[in-house]
Amino acid sequence: MNPTVLVIGLGGTITMTPGAGGGVAPALSAEQLLSSVPGLPGLPVTIETVDFRRVASGSLGIEDITAVAELIRARAEGVAGVVVVQGTDTIEETAYLLDLYHTGAQPVVVTGAMRHPEQAGADGPANLLAAVLTAASEAARDLGCLVVLADEIHAARRVRKTHTTAGSTFRSPDGGPLGYVVEDRPRLLNRVPRRPALAPPATPRPPRVPVLTMALGDDGVLLDDLGARVDGAVIAGFGGGHVPRTIVEKVQKLAEEVPVVLASRAGSGPVLTQTYGYPGSELDLIARGLVPAGFLDPLKARLLLCALLSGGAGPEAIAAAFAGA
Ligand code: ASP
Repeated sequence: MNPTVLVIGLGGTITMTPGAGGGVAPALSAEQLLSSVPGLPGLPVTIETVDFRRVASGSLGIEDITAVAELIRARAEGVAGVVVVQGTDTIEETAYLLDLYHTGAQPVVVTGAMRHPEQAGADGPANLLAAVLTAASEAARDLGCLVVLADEIHAARRVRKTHTTAGSTFRSPDGGPLGYVVEDRPRLLNRVPRRPALAPPATPRPPRVPVLTMALGDDGVLLDDLGARVDGAVIAGFGGGHVPRTIVEKVQKLAEEVPVVLASRAGSGPVLTQTYGYPGSELDLIARGLVPAGFLDPLKARLLLCALLSGGAGPEAIAAAFAGA
């Protein structure tokens, strides 16, 4: 029997066609997208589709993605793999959130397109084909959630969108891609260890967790009284995880009120934990109660913190989860 791949449509440029109001907007169903992929009908794969949302990916919410995770959990038994089709703007976040909740061995592959279906060189069909091949592949099992675009296979925990228009926008600055789709075959060159999946959210409302990116001369105005309005926060600090010395008391006050994770705005590399010892350095901030994010970038650190808070994790569990991530 052919393996079954479940394709879940969420929208994005890959589904967009020109609308009456000018510009393109989400329009096509998952079924319509699949019908435009050369090579797909001949594959020994059975495809099932679910149209879950049809929006630009910036309008997806954490609740949408936890609902997708639930759908995948409910359908996982009967499928070889899952493809999630959506806009590229937030793939680095949605894929990571799906990865945190995915318990099965089946590949969950997120894809989209940088060029809409009516543009010359539209990349949607090629990305969809590569995603289906990866989702159906034995070699991609036990890797959690993957992002496949431009024939590259990336780990959800590492991938970032790095260019607003380039087809090669998706990069994994820490470690590189896990593999490539070559001659219609997913070739995995590297693997990432599986991490224990998190329990589904216990609370209906996602926690409110802002990312505060530090900037030259930042006076910390956004930190004022923030603790009363949020459930946690991520500081995207300078370099190895640093803030201006003038705002360390504000940061400490926030960390006394809610969990605060320290990440870096640099774009790759880990937050340091034992190098710099001046006011506002990583050593100073960790001593004031901030939790270092390791290699997680600020957006992924925010989602891990959200997922932990939704599951009712306390300070020790949060620190342990970030140490393991
Ligand atoms: N704005 C689009 C979206 O994220 C961009 C894309 O799909 O590439 O929905």
